[in-house]
Amino acid sequence: MGLPEIVIDLEKIKSNVRTVRALADPLGIEVVGVTKGVLGDVRIAEAFLAGGITTLGDSRWENLQRLRQAFPDVSLMLLRIPGLSQIERVIRWADISLNSDLEVLQALSEEALRCNKQHKVILMVDLGDLREGVWPQDLPELTKRARLLPGIRIIGLGANFACYGGLIPTVEKVKQLVELADAMEGILGYSLAVISGGNSANLPLVLNQTIPQRINQLRLGEGILQGTESIQRRLLPGSVPDAFVLRAEIIERYEKPTLPLGETGQDAFGKLPKFTDEGWRKRGILALGRQDVPLEGLMLRDQRLRIFGASSDHLIVDLTEAGELALGSIVEFNLSYGGLLGAMTSPYVEKRYV
Ligand SMILES: *Cc1c(COP(=O)(O)O)cnc(C)c1O
Repeated sequence: MGLPEIVIDLEKIKSNVRTVRALADPLGIEVVGVTKGVLGDVRIAEAFLAGGITTLGDSRWENLQRLRQAFPDVSLMLLRIPGLSQIERVIRWADISLNSDLEVLQALSEEALRCNKQHKVILMVDLGDLREGVWPQDLPELTKRARLLPGIRIIGLGANFACYGGLIPTVEKVKQLVELADAMEGILGYSLAVISGGNSANLPLVLNQTIPQRINQLRLGEGILQGTESIQRRLLPGSVPDAFVLRAEIIERYEKPTLPLGETGQDAFGKLPKFTDEGWRKRGILALGRQDVPLEGLMLRDQRLRIFGASSDHLIVDLTEAGELALGSIVEFNLSYGGLLGAMTSPYVEKRYV
C-alpha cells in the first residue's frame, strides 16, 4: 500500500453515470463522458462505457491517445480547441474536436486529407463566458468558410459556460445557442447532428427540465465523477459524492500551541499567514501536501478534525477532538473537482481501484 492514495470506486462512478443518463436520456441528450479530471484514466473510462456512455471527451491529446489505445472503437472528442502545433496529433487521436478558428480548421482539413480521414468538428461560439468560441456575429462567416474545407465535416455547434466568466447557462442563453444553430443550418444546407449545450453547469436545466429542445448533447465530467452540478455544487438526486476518497498517514502527533513562537514573516509560498490563539492543541502532521492535492480541494470526512494548513509536503490538522488517532493512523478526505484533478495528476498519489 502506497500512501497517500486515492481510492477509486468504479461501481459508484458507473452508478453516477447511470443516474445522470436517466435524467438526460428522456430529454434526448447524449452524455459525453469527460475524463480530463482524472488524467484520462482508462479504468474510469471503462466505468463510463459500462454506464452506457459512447463518446469520451478530454482536453489533452495525450489522454486521448491513451484512451484510443485502450478503446479502438470508441468515439473520442478533443475538448480544448487545438493549436496549430497539435494538428497531426488531433487528427491521429481524436474523431471530433471543438474549434473556433478558421486557420486551425484549414490545417485540420489538410492533415485529415493527407491521412485519408474526414475529421468531425463542432464549432464553438462564445455566449459570454469569455473563454473559447467565435463571437456570435462572426459565426455565419466562419461557417461559410469552414463549410468549404474538404477534410472536415461540421457536425455541430457548441458552447461552454461557467468556466472563465462563471457565466450561468440560463434558458435564454441556451436558447440563443439553438437559434444560432438554426441560422448555421441555413448556411450549411444540412441539419446539424449535434447541439452541444455545455458542461455540468447545465445540469440544473436538465434537473428542472427547462433545457431547450434540440440541445442533444452535454459534455460532463464533474456531474458524473462527483455527482454534482457545477453552479451551486448540489448533489444530483441518486448520485454519490464519494466515488473518490483520498487517504493520508499521520506521521507526527504532538501537542503544540496554535501561535508560532516569536516574530513571523512570509510562509513557504510568500504569503503572510494569520493565526488565532486557541491555546495548545493536539496537532497531527499528515504525509500530504500541495504537491499531492490543492489544499482548497480537501474535505475531511471525519468532522471532528480540522485543517490548520499545509506546505508542499505537510498537512497540519487539529486532532484534539479525535484522541484515538495515533501515529500511523489514516485520515480520509472527500475531494472537490479541483481536488480530484490535483490528486489524479500528482505522481505522488497512488491510485487504487475498488
Ligand atoms: C472541462 C470541459 C467540459 C466538462 O466540464 P465539467 O464541468 O467537468 O462537466 C466540457 N466542455 C469543455 C469544453 C471543457 O473544457
